[in-house]
Amino acid sequence: MPETILVLGGGIGGVAAANALRKRLPREHRIIVVDREPTFALAASFLWVMTGARSPERVSRPLDRLRRKGIDVEFGIVDRIAPAEREVVVDGKTLRGNRLVVALGAEFALDAIPGLAEAGHTFCTLDGATRLRDELARFESGRIVVLTAAPAYKCPAAPYEASMLIDGALRRRGKRDSVQLSLFSAEPGPMGVAGPEVSAAVRGMVEAKGITYRPEHQVARVEGREVVFTNGVRAGFDLLVYVPPLRPPRALAASGLTDDSGWVRVDRGTMETRFPGVYAIGDVTMIPLATGKPLPRAGVFAHRQAEVAAANIARAVTGNGPEARFDGRGECFIEIGGGKAGYGAGNFYAEPRPAVSVRAPNRMWHIGKVLLEKQILWRWL
Ligand SMILES: Cc1cc2nc3c(=O)[nH]c(=O)nc-3n(C[C@H](O)[C@H](O)[C@H](O)COP(=O)(O)OP(=O)(O)OC[C@H]3O[C@@H](n4cnc5c(N)ncnc54)[C@H](O)[C@@H]3O)c2cc1C
Repeated sequence: MPETILVLGGGIGGVAAANALRKRLPREHRIIVVDREPTFALAASFLWVMTGARSPERVSRPLDRLRRKGIDVEFGIVDRIAPAEREVVVDGKTLRGNRLVVALGAEFALDAIPGLAEAGHTFCTLDGATRLRDELARFESGRIVVLTAAPAYKCPAAPYEASMLIDGALRRRGKRDSVQLSLFSAEPGPMGVAGPEVSAAVRGMVEAKGITYRPEHQVARVEGREVVFTNGVRAGFDLLVYVPPLRPPRALAASGLTDDSGWVRVDRGTMETRFPGVYAIGDVTMIPLATGKPLPRAGVFAHRQAEVAAANIARAVTGNGPEARFDGRGECFIEIGGGKAGYGAGNFYAEPRPAVSVRAPNRMWHIGKVLLEKQILWRWL
């Protein structure tokens, strides 16, 4: 019997899952990607949009290019998910599938910190990164504050890379000496989930640029041109750059897919939820590690988990192939500016703690990130 696989979300996880499913399933089976946005934008390139190294168009692709590969695309907002029935309500219309892949990502809680979104700029959205590019290009002198508005966010390296790339952009324009650049993090150190060695190495990269780093500063509110932290510290700024807090997508409410955290709980090996035939991947999931901290939200994990979910769905549909399991491995490039990047890689499922190491920055790792960008934008869509 021909089946229909509904892939909810056409971001990194959803597009990777749809591609992997199309490669594994005969054409009689239908794959439908559902997304509210007509355009796929590669978040890993937003920092290059911020520095002007990429245009917004260069890091975006129309999502309906998936149709050329035999993948259907449905545009609309997923309002409700009924996993037991494998039904989804999209803009009031019910779609029914034989199997589901939930890849709706994490929402930015832009209203969570009073005054932050009004006063600051974020590189975490394509529009935000584009506006920040223009602000940075005309910034001559003064105080730039970069901050994380919560201890956990998408891509643990991003705010550290952002501050180093801002440093690099100012140097290129000969303005660095007239700018005081500070990074305040809600978390106790960079990329803490990867362990103390990685954290110290990344902190060293940041501080070597003359960036003032202040960990364990949770922003409470922004008043005029001053950030107020919960510990009473106040920091004045002329340009404020922030990473927003996250919240689970609204569509998950009342779906029965979530645990107390509000995120989707899965079998961390197979990526199946407690509903048979319903899988969840990427930022929408919450996977506790041996240390009690969650698996970081990163595209590399969304991609690997997508391959696993697709293999397990194809196995269930065709009866062929072994069970696939996500092994907790991942890696990331850490852009430091000047055409160089560091590289962190390891096993986040290792016990008693993730086994992750970091390599010193050089040009080769930067080229590695450029090649990854090309692969995603040209081969996936
Ligand atoms: C600035 C920045 C830099 C990053 N750099 C890296 C990096 O270098 N390496 C790395 O591994 N990760 C990086 N990440 C993290 C990475 O982008 C995310 O972890 C990844 O995109 C998660 O994939 P996902 O499929 O789970 O979610 P997403 O890619 O966010 O996709 C979710 C999709 O669901 C859609 N959607 C949501 N709700 C609905 C709804 N109700 N109805 C219809 N559609 C809906 C959205 O429109 C979106 O297309 C970065 C993130 C940021 C912000």
